[in-house]
Amino acid sequence: MTPAAYAVLNTEAVAHNVAVARRHAPTAKLMAVIKANGYGHGLLRIADALAGVDAFAVARGDEGIRLRNAGFTQPITVLEGFRNGEDLDAFLQQRLDTVVHSFQQLEILETRVETEQLGVWLKIDTGMNRLGFRPADVAGVYQRLRQCRIIAGPIRFMTHLANADDKADPKTPEQIALFNATLEGYAGERSIANSAGVLGWQEALADWVRPGVMLYGISPFPELTRRELGLQPVMGLYSQLIAVKPVRQGETVGYSGTWRCPEATLLGVVAVGYGDGYPRYAKTGTPVLVNGRRVPLIGRVSMDMITVDLASQPDAKPGDPVALWNEALPVEEIAHCADTIPYTLVCGITQRVQIIEREN
Ligand SMILES: *Cc1c(COP(=O)(O)O)cnc(C)c1O
Repeated sequence: MTPAAYAVLNTEAVAHNVAVARRHAPTAKLMAVIKANGYGHGLLRIADALAGVDAFAVARGDEGIRLRNAGFTQPITVLEGFRNGEDLDAFLQQRLDTVVHSFQQLEILETRVETEQLGVWLKIDTGMNRLGFRPADVAGVYQRLRQCRIIAGPIRFMTHLANADDKADPKTPEQIALFNATLEGYAGERSIANSAGVLGWQEALADWVRPGVMLYGISPFPELTRRELGLQPVMGLYSQLIAVKPVRQGETVGYSGTWRCPEATLLGVVAVGYGDGYPRYAKTGTPVLVNGRRVPLIGRVSMDMITVDLASQPDAKPGDPVALWNEALPVEEIAHCADTIPYTLVCGITQRVQIIEREN
């Protein structure tokens, strides 16, 4: 049975997008961020497509363990680090590098007697105010880490940019300057840039870049399209019409009757909804491609279906193909129509959506 709703993943586009990142950061090493199931694209599939990057980054230890169990031998950095001693044991066993961002973690490391087993990134909070040590604490933390027998190799340093998607925001140069000033005289490798940093901030490139969303062909900037950045989308979300019917002037469509027909029209029902990951808050007017042409979404998105206005396609019929986002209809545009960011849409694809891999 062909699935009603399915996602097509073009894994070759991943390699293209890595090449774009490398062009922007030719001298930096590249840590590909594949947290959250590879931004919804499938952790192992994306890791396969990323052969040749210098390292992987995931958010949680269990994501790193999945990669190891599947046979990936690349360095893996766990961005949230270990949470407790039991976590740390798993990191050691699976050779996962940790971010150290808190005094709780530091105290756990100081109790360990194993020698030279753990790769470490010391995280500095330069203004994101999420994870990381304050700059004033860095010297002391570094000294204590140096005494930890468990740590292998040189201690590396990272920070995370809070506003890098806004090229006019002075916070980014401030964060970069604070990071560099804090680390004056330290030898270890440094990492600052997420996708927006890679594409928009030369001074953020440092020794390692950490692109995520751009690898999936999505622009990190609200003002710049993926096309302008030379990125190729990896995911397309598709479905089909399952009903087509006339509605009369004045009738309402869908839950809560939020849409009332201003005049008689032809209504299309598409087999996709928030149960598949299509955004519940997509507004009336959000574009949907039916037979490759744009029609507006109307009314509320339900769990399994959406409704579209087929006034411009009087010959549309059940079975006709529908794209919710793809090469021709950017996921960035759908995110905008749903008051969200494209990250949430690709991450939110649910189990029910069948994944089809396709090469170019
Ligand atoms: C998610 C994440 C990234 C990647 O961010 P993108 O915006 O997807 O490129 C990089 N670094 C850290 C610490 C992250 O949490």
